[in-house]
Amino acid sequence: GFRPASRISSIGVSEILKIGARAAAMKREGKPVIILGAGEPDFDTPDHVKQAASDAIHRGETKYTALDGTPELKKAIREKFQRENGLAYELDEITVATGAKQILFNAMMASLDPGDEVVIPTPYWTSYSDIVQICEGKPILIACDASSGFRLTAQKLEAAITPRTRWVLLNSPSNPSGAAYSAADYRPLLDVLLKHPHVWLLVDDMYEHIVYDAFRFVTPARLEPGLKDRTLTVNGVSKAYAMTGWRIGYAGGPRALIKAMAVVQSQATSCPSSVSQAASVAALNGPQDFLKERTESFQRRRNLVVNGLNAIEGLDCRVPEGAFYTFSGCAGVLGRVTPSGKRIESDTDFCAYLLEDSHVAVVPGSAFGLSPYFRISYATSEAELKEALERISAACKRLS
Ligand code: PLP
Repeated sequence: GFRPASRISSIGVSEILKIGARAAAMKREGKPVIILGAGEPDFDTPDHVKQAASDAIHRGETKYTALDGTPELKKAIREKFQRENGLAYELDEITVATGAKQILFNAMMASLDPGDEVVIPTPYWTSYSDIVQICEGKPILIACDASSGFRLTAQKLEAAITPRTRWVLLNSPSNPSGAAYSAADYRPLLDVLLKHPHVWLLVDDMYEHIVYDAFRFVTPARLEPGLKDRTLTVNGVSKAYAMTGWRIGYAGGPRALIKAMAVVQSQATSCPSSVSQAASVAALNGPQDFLKERTESFQRRRNLVVNGLNAIEGLDCRVPEGAFYTFSGCAGVLGRVTPSGKRIESDTDFCAYLLEDSHVAVVPGSAFGLSPYFRISYATSEAELKEALERISAACKRLS
């Protein structure tokens, strides 16, 4: 029979996918399932972006492109980094891949030797630790619960660093917690990193445009120029421009790393899709005003969900600064018993109960390395969110 390679044998199928499959099956059986698990905006890709893709097809831009991004797209990315982040990257300090996920994969493949350590605060986007493991590195998971705003602290970072540490991975705003680092939150962490020149910093800025209230997004390479020569600044068009299916992510970073990442990509995909790259040029160079409107819409939904959850006894939801997720504590429902007599021992049990009893699909904190919590993606209609909150509230009331 088939024997999987040891580098993937410890990696299970993501809990998110399992719940998604179960929810989809229930939906097919005709059950009124509400799925709050999707990691993508519910908006459509803007028309001018679609038009640019169509134009590219008709101009014949349907062939292999330069290995790690067309000059046009790299220039648009250079402008974006300058305009929005105050960061100056040359074209050969920029790389483009098939999603930010492949950027992370290329970076880890290009830099990790077996046993090299990567510091990852939890809750984390599941792919971080799985990618590190596939690349035979060792994820060093640091629990950062709601009491620290789901943020890494300087003390915890300092304690996690060893001579084998290669990277620290930070994600702001975060999937799944929605927490974001302000300049003041970042400062002490950057000071720690300045003391450890062998440690590199990967920052995942995917959700930079989706921030609320007075929160001001900043990125570390700008805050601390002394770290720019060992920071990889990762971003993409998936979340900002509702382009998850186009599969374009990009990064700015030191030339030698960017070159090594291109070696990996050259034998994985040869280049990102030519059509998607043309579309991404239009997204980055085109009008940006719709972003504000979309963020306002997300903010209304965030408020709806946070208020709804905090009105339910047993749940406790921190107000997230960004992204389109809530990561709510559910310690208050543990130990309680469902109408069918099952004791809720964990966040996984709680989420299974919500799905089976109330037909609401949410993802347990265990899938993101931190319990007891559950994630809601609120990138869905307000009507559906209201209905889901009512069902969750009723389900919690039925616990004894
Ligand atoms: N980073 C974070 C934090 C994400 O949540 C996601 C998608 O869910 C990605 C990166 C990957 O985005 P993509 O591969 O679509 O560019």
